[in-house]
Amino acid sequence: MSVGHVAGATDTGRRRRRNEDAYVAQPPLFAVADGVGGAQAGEVASRLAAAAALEESSAGGSAEERVAGLIQEANRRVHRAAAQDSARSGMGTTMTVALVEDGTVAIGHVGDSRAYRLRDGALEQLTEDHSLVGELLRSGNLSPEEARVHPQRNVVTRALGSDPDVDVDTFTVDARPGDVFLLCSDGLSSMLEDEEIQETLEQQRSDLDGAVKTLIRQALRAGGEDNITVVCFEISDAAPGETTERIELERTREQALPPDEDDDTLDELDGISTVRAPEGDTMVVSAEELRAAQAQVQETSRRREREERRGVLAPALLIVLVALIVVLVVWGLTR
Ligand code: MN
Repeated sequence: MSVGHVAGATDTGRRRRRNEDAYVAQPPLFAVADGVGGAQAGEVASRLAAAAALEESSAGGSAEERVAGLIQEANRRVHRAAAQDSARSGMGTTMTVALVEDGTVAIGHVGDSRAYRLRDGALEQLTEDHSLVGELLRSGNLSPEEARVHPQRNVVTRALGSDPDVDVDTFTVDARPGDVFLLCSDGLSSMLEDEEIQETLEQQRSDLDGAVKTLIRQALRAGGEDNITVVCFEISDAAPGETTERIELERTREQALPPDEDDDTLDELDGISTVRAPEGDTMVVSAEELRAAQAQVQETSRRREREERRGVLAPALLIVLVALIVVLVVWGLTR
């Protein structure tokens, strides 16, 4: 078993001036990084992370240990670069990595980029989004419908660059010949429903290059509000070595686009205005801001709980009140 066809592409989208995404598609290593930060620092962060991944992937240990190690190393480099240059302070990046080895795929993940697996026509999201909306969804405080239009859906609760150490999610999934894995930045997953991604991938299963291009076109048609990056690879039963090797670590184009539209969504919200990076994109970029975002999640959960409790208490109080009145009236009448 080995990696079969591989495809990857990135697009600036229709609203952003620059492409701050980066990706790696070098079997057996695949990665997507979505950077943020003013004055081109987002590009620096995602590229640093991608370069670190490429260099570190041959280190020792199990696939999962290597994935965790390379994301830690990427984090150290981004953090160091941010600390050394004031123009880059506050820069950060998401990172989702897949490393194929011995019939398994080790996944490492920080942020809101995603990994999916298409198996027997069904698309499954493998990673959990480290985002405010993702946490609210998982704790049951938000419905998927509410999540889709949530004004803070861009806020990431974990990213590389903000601290010398980062909490990395790692896990291993099995891989079978015929599986297709897809890594993407939120510029794809926020523009398309999972069902749309599944349908396109399934229809163009035999032409992954075409599938990636179609997905990007669909995300652009849906608004293209962010940089869009898609990396796909197929697990085949061919022996290793027969695969098409491709190395890509670049942005495909720098379009002459109008400046980023001002993203005012966060201004309306009280208490969380600090969770905002320069250049309109939003990401938690420091430990303090991270704590603020987490506090926000807890506060929302607590508020929801209070409301629920109130929802039970109010009718109960009413019943007691009515009963009291009845008793008083009856007492009054019988006197
Ligand atoms: Mn993005």
